[in-house]
Amino acid sequence: MAVTRTFSIIKPDATRRNLTGAVTKMLEDAGLRVVASKRIHMTREQAEGFYAVHKERPFFGELVEFMTSGPVVVQVLEGEDAVKRNRDVMGATNPKDAEDGTIRKTFAESIEANSVHGSDSEENARIEIDYFFKPEEIVG
Ligand code: GDP
Ligand code: MG
Repeated sequence: MAVTRTFSIIKPDATRRNLTGAVTKMLEDAGLRVVASKRIHMTREQAEGFYAVHKERPFFGELVEFMTSGPVVVQVLEGEDAVKRNRDVMGATNPKDAEDGTIRKTFAESIEANSVHGSDSEENARIEIDYFFKPEEIVG
């Protein structure tokens, strides 16, 4: 299996509860390496652009509101089959459906405040990494 990259966000519900380290440890324990990381407070424009694919969904406004409600930590993760590996350790979108031992089962507050984002395909990973990082900010 090839070493690839994915894009992750530690969401405002997790930074608010000081869980940046705990979430990152679970990512690292799952075999992912943090090759870029920064703490930012997303602007409304940034959040709307990032979640543009969800524009027509009924929760879009709330989602943008939530993602701009506090700081987030955006990260590039590297590892074997990184996109799937990350999605596996994140768990299902709704923490009620997430398996034991996953980040969302362990930490998420709700289907919206679910602690982490992770890219859902390698193509989207490339787009999302480019959205937040310059090439020189990624150190593999
Ligand atoms: P993900 O890929 O597992 O993060 O899930 P989606 O791409 O389907 O949704 C993006 C994000 O929107 C989720 O991680 C949640 O933060 C939020 N979200 C998804 N479904 C709902 C919902 O039914 N209600 C609300 N309020 N937020 C949701
Ligand atoms: Mg998604």
